[in-house]
Amino acid sequence: MELVTTVARAQELLHAARRPLGFVPTMGALHEGHLALVREARAVCATVVASVFVNPLQFGPGEDLATYPRDPEHDPSKLEAAGVDVLFAPASNEMYPPGFATFVDVGPLGETFEGAVRPGHFRGVATVIVKLLNIVRPDRLYLGQKDAQQAVVLQKTIADLNAPVEVAIVPTVREPDGLAMSSRNAYLDAAQRAQAPTLHRALVATREALERGAQKRDAVVAGVAALSPSAKVDYLDLVDACTFAPLDSLQVPAFVIGAARFGKTRLIDNLWITTSPLT
Ligand code: AMP
Repeated sequence: MELVTTVARAQELLHAARRPLGFVPTMGALHEGHLALVREARAVCATVVASVFVNPLQFGPGEDLATYPRDPEHDPSKLEAAGVDVLFAPASNEMYPPGFATFVDVGPLGETFEGAVRPGHFRGVATVIVKLLNIVRPDRLYLGQKDAQQAVVLQKTIADLNAPVEVAIVPTVREPDGLAMSSRNAYLDAAQRAQAPTLHRALVATREALERGAQKRDAVVAGVAALSPSAKVDYLDLVDACTFAPLDSLQVPAFVIGAARFGKTRLIDNLWITTSPLT
């Protein structure tokens, strides 16, 4: 695996790469969820590129940019073992040199749910991904279903801007107790770690109620009841899987989405629903 830290070297090296070229963007502190994306890419692509870049643009003031988990010691060997050919790990001033001034505005989709709680977040995500696509020029972009709204926002950005890349969405990898793997799980203390799987249970309870034919309002009440009483819910909702527009009752495909705080740690998760309610 070759480690590249500059845009110029990445573009020079990847210009002649064997295709199809698969690309897995990450913020590092890698876990099995990230590596599942790499393995999917490895299975179908001649060249696999991963990036590790903690993108300052997608963190708001008061968010966890400074303390975001980082693991530069172990990330490269994990990526190499999973089959990555090139790791692009630029410094912040390589991506945003002095004078950088162009941003991707993703419109109203960037202002709901995660975007409502984190203003400017998806603008930062879309901006860095468009830059990374221009640097790496992949044929296939691998994204996790774990960040479902991010995946929907980026698919729209790619379609709206005619970026010549295909998007592959990889199912969420979970711990045995159902907790979705996330770099932020490292923030949880033992008591919070024990409560955190109730976010997944809340999503399952909501989905089960919807699949029995419940209206969203009642399904969400059932979901909240499954959540640890010490967690604080930011949202628990049902949305159209393609547009992320809220739904009143189940129409497939849809996502049940949730975000909750366990102490200071904010976790998000979702379930994809493809089965219609029983009639
Ligand atoms: P991050 O490093 O959190 O920005 O994540 C990088 C990519 O990995 C994103 O496309 C995420 O959706 C994906 N990802 C993160 N956690 C998981 C997981 N548990 N299962 C599958 N994909 C994941």
